[in-house]
Amino acid sequence: FQAESHNVASVKYKDGMQSHGRRLVEAEKTIRQALAQQEFILYFQPQLNLLTNRIDGVEALVRWQHPEKGLLAPGEFLSDIAALGLSGELDNYVLELACQTNARWYQTYRRRVAIAVNLSATEFQDPKLIAKIQTLLLSYDIPPKYLELEITEDVVITDIRSAMDTIFVLQNMGIKVSIDDFGTGYSSLAYLRDLPIDKIKIDRSFITEFAANDSDLTIVKSMIRLSHGLGKRVLAEGVESIEQLNLLRKLGCDAVQGYFINPPLPEEKFVSYLTRK
Ligand code: C2E
Ligand code: MG
Ligand code: MG
Ligand code: MG
Repeated sequence: FQAESHNVASVKYKDGMQSHGRRLVEAEKTIRQALAQQEFILYFQPQLNLLTNRIDGVEALVRWQHPEKGLLAPGEFLSDIAALGLSGELDNYVLELACQTNARWYQTYRRRVAIAVNLSATEFQDPKLIAKIQTLLLSYDIPPKYLELEITEDVVITDIRSAMDTIFVLQNMGIKVSIDDFGTGYSSLAYLRDLPIDKIKIDRSFITEFAANDSDLTIVKSMIRLSHGLGKRVLAEGVESIEQLNLLRKLGCDAVQGYFINPPLPEEKFVSYLTRK
């Protein structure tokens, strides 16, 4: 009986594994195809500088223009891409597309805007990252200060020494590095002190209710003060109302991003927005 029940359990387990495996094999095929056929595109979310009241940055956010399923957000495919070990390939593709687009905006509209690109841990830890970025900036003729790389706290913490080396090199090249989703990972105040990070992006989860929630307000205030005390810029993510915007302005936050300013926009919309301002 025991052997039998063991068998049944192990068959079930194997079945589950197989269908999971089959799904990933399928996903790998469509994702590689999508990369080759350039189905991944970028949306652009403006970053509003609260001192100048101008758009002085934009975050590139990947979308998958799926031939059957339509436009997919990163939440629908990034975990498959990571599980398949394809994060580096996607990030390389996005980095190049971001540089290409930035160069085109300059050629067409004579307008330079700093473009922020999200990097996975894999990409950030790739020893070839620096060389790849150097090549991109040279071939698209982009001054380094117009490229910003967004990494999360966890990426830094995974291997703090090598992260520190990479960030130092990037900073010496003139490239900006920011910490995304700040406050949601394993933060270490020591790395904030030691790293030449340009900007801290306060995670949306602290902004959602901070106008009405004393604890969140305290955290947001402290993050702004902490950033400024360490000589870094601070941006609030996920600003959805005028109240949030006004309060952040009052608290001395440097920049904001969120649906109240603009949702992520397709390129044509972003450009008309950019050239209008
Ligand atoms: P993130 O870098 O923190 O980007 C901000 C996310 O919040 C975006 O979701 C954006 O659409 C959303 N957002 C912006 N303003 C608001 C707001 O006011 N309210 C709400 N509710 N949401 C807002 P998205 O585009 O779905 O991207 C999700 C995450 O996927 C990103 O979070 C980033 O971690 C990752 N990601 C996006 N593009 C790339 C990429 O090219 N490479 C890598 N490695 N990761 C990416
Ligand atoms: Mg980001
Ligand atoms: Mg974020
Ligand atoms: Mg996020």
